[in-house]
Amino acid sequence: MKVYEVIREDKINQLLETGKKVEKKERLELIEKARDCYGLTLEEAAALLQIEDQDELEALFEAAKEIKEHIYGSRIVVFAPLYTSNACTNNCLYCGFRAANRKLHRRTLTAKEILQEAKAIENQGHKRILLVCGEDKSKTHIDHITEAVKTIYQGADIRRINVNAAPMEVEDFRKLKAAGIGTFQIFQETYHRETYQKMHPSGSKSNYEYRITAIERAFEAGIDDFGIGVLLGLYDYKFDVLASLMHSQYMDDKYHVGPHTISIPRLRPALDSAIRETPYPVADWELKKIVAVYRLTLPYTGIILSTREGAALRDELLSLGVSQISAGSKTNPGGYEEKDHDGEQFETSDERSLDEMLQVICQQGHLPSFCTACYRAKRTGEAFMELAKDAHIHEFCQPNAILTFKENLEDYASGETRVKGEIMIAKELDKITDEKLKKITIERLKRIEAGERDLY
Ligand code: SAM
Ligand code: SF4
Repeated sequence: MKVYEVIREDKINQLLETGKKVEKKERLELIEKARDCYGLTLEEAAALLQIEDQDELEALFEAAKEIKEHIYGSRIVVFAPLYTSNACTNNCLYCGFRAANRKLHRRTLTAKEILQEAKAIENQGHKRILLVCGEDKSKTHIDHITEAVKTIYQGADIRRINVNAAPMEVEDFRKLKAAGIGTFQIFQETYHRETYQKMHPSGSKSNYEYRITAIERAFEAGIDDFGIGVLLGLYDYKFDVLASLMHSQYMDDKYHVGPHTISIPRLRPALDSAIRETPYPVADWELKKIVAVYRLTLPYTGIILSTREGAALRDELLSLGVSQISAGSKTNPGGYEEKDHDGEQFETSDERSLDEMLQVICQQGHLPSFCTACYRAKRTGEAFMELAKDAHIHEFCQPNAILTFKENLEDYASGETRVKGEIMIAKELDKITDEKLKKITIERLKRIEAGERDLY
C-alpha cells in the first residue's frame, strides 16, 4: 500500500475516539509499560494523546524524562539553521516566504555569501548546520543546494549538514546524497487533506501526495536518514501527531527505518502571513504532552526543538524528551551577518546566543553535544537504529559528546561557560563505566587541550 493510502483519516479518528474511552488506570499502566523503551502502538499513543488530567500528565512527563535519560543520557545535540534563500513560488498561507508576500525582502545567497554565513555560525561554536530554503525552481534548484553543501564542507569546519527543502525527484535526491548531507527533513505540515489544501492553495506544494512520498524517493536515492514533523496549530494536534506516527510506522514496516528525527514546530507570527489567528492553537502544556507522547512511542527517534519557542518553555522541554535544539538562530538569508526582520520566515522567540544556551543546558544538568561522528562513520539509517536499540550507541555518544563540547569550550566559549562546562565534563566523564573507554577519553581530552581537534 502507498504511504498516502496508509494515512486514513477515518482510522485516525476512530483510534482517537477509542483512546477517549481508555480509563485512567489503563493509561497509567501504558505509561508504566513505555518505561521499558520498546515504544507504543498507535492505539496506545492515541490513548495518551487524550490525557488532560494533571496526575496522568505528571506520570507521562516523568516517564518521558526517564526514557530520554536511558537512551540519550544527559546529552543534547546543538545546531543552527542556515537560510540560503527566501525565494518561493508556493503560497503556504502561514509562511513569510510565500509568493504573494510583496513586503518580504527576497534574497538568494551566492556561494560566497553562504560560506560567510557558515563561518559566522562556525564562529559561534557550531559544528552542525540545517540548510533551509524556499522553493523556487529558478533559484533554489538542486544545484543551488548541492553547491551550498559542498562550499560549506570545503570552506568551514562544519561537520554535518542536514537539509530541509522541498520534495524532489529521485535523481535530485541522488545529487543530494552525493553532496554528503546528513538528514533530509520534510514536514508534511498537516496530514489532514482538507486543511492541507486550504493552507497550500497554489504552487507545487499544493500536491499532498508528492510531498508525502518524498521520503520514499529519498530512500530510493540512498538517503536513509529522514526527519518528519507537523506544523502545530494548523489542525487538531491529536490527529496530526497520530498521523505522523502512522507515517513513521509505515516507513519502519517497509524500510526497517523509522524517522531519524521528529520536529515539533509550532506556528509563529510571520511577515504578511495570510493567517491572522492560529486555527488550532496548541497550549504550552499540550506541546509538553506532544513531546512526551513522541518520546514514549518512538524512544529512539531524536526530537528537535527550534527557537520558535520561548526561553522558559524550551528549558522545560529539554527535560521532557527533546534531544536536539537549535540555538542562536536567524531565519532570514544573510541573518548571521546582518539583521533584516523583513527577510525572515517567521519570528523566532528564543533570542539567546549559543554561549548563553550552553550555560543553561549545563545548569539544568544536560551535556551539550556537537558530535557528528555517527554520520561520518556511516552509522546511519538501519545501522544506526540497530545500535541505538541495543543501547550500544552510548559507547560512542558519551565520549564523543564530551570531546566535542571540550573543543567548543577551548575554542569559542566565554569564561563563565568554560567554568560551568568543565564541571559538567568532569561529571559526565564519571558516567563512563568502561574503564578503558574512560582512559581513552581522558587522554583525548588532554590532546584537545594541546591543540588537536576532531578526535572520535
Ligand atoms: N520550503 C520548504 C518547505 O516548505 O518544505 C523547506 C523549508 S520551510 C522554510 C521549513 C518549515 O518551516 C516548513 O516546513 C514549515 O513547517 C515551517 N514554517 C513555515 N512557516 C512557519 C511559521 N509561520 N511558523 C513556524 N514554522 C513555520
Ligand atoms: Fe515556501 Fe516552504 Fe514557506 Fe511554503 S513553507 S512558502 S514552500 S518556504
